[in-house]
Amino acid sequence: MKKELSYFPKRDAGRRNYAERVRQVFQDYLALKDLRLTKQREKILDVFLSAERHLSQDDVYRLLKKDGLGRVTVYRTLKLLEESRLAEGVTSSSGETRFEIQLERPHHDHLICVQCGYIKEIRWPEIEKIQKQVCRKLGFSILYHRHELFGRCKDCSPKPPAAGS
Ligand SMILES: [Zn+2]
Ligand SMILES: [Zn+2]
Repeated sequence: MKKELSYFPKRDAGRRNYAERVRQVFQDYLALKDLRLTKQREKILDVFLSAERHLSQDDVYRLLKKDGLGRVTVYRTLKLLEESRLAEGVTSSSGETRFEIQLERPHHDHLICVQCGYIKEIRWPEIEKIQKQVCRKLGFSILYHRHELFGRCKDCSPKPPAAGS
């Protein structure tokens, strides 16, 4: 599987510590709801932290089925991750939502391949700037936005005929 996640906190923040910080944020959120970071919930977090891809509910279930995790546990944990704002959704080529951990990662948008499902992360400072300017002019205060572009990735695009053939 190709890695999809491109943007992470600076290297000196350390990826190992990053995983710990993600766990801490989730644990704090669960505590507010009188819930605990159970082994099962921790396993779901670990799947996200090691996969480095945008994962659907089904992906997580398939990866953890062997550990005895049920669909309901996966579903509920993903809901909690979303509510805690640790996870955010992206629309995949099949229409189902794929999730990614957002903590400390810079804002980015997504290019989604309709053929192989690959999701490429991209940052567009120029577009973000134009967006802000236009909205300011219109007196519209943006809360958040998502750009999702659907198409074919480099590997799935038809190749132009080779020179000389
Ligand atoms: Zn593709
Ligand atoms: Zn992403």
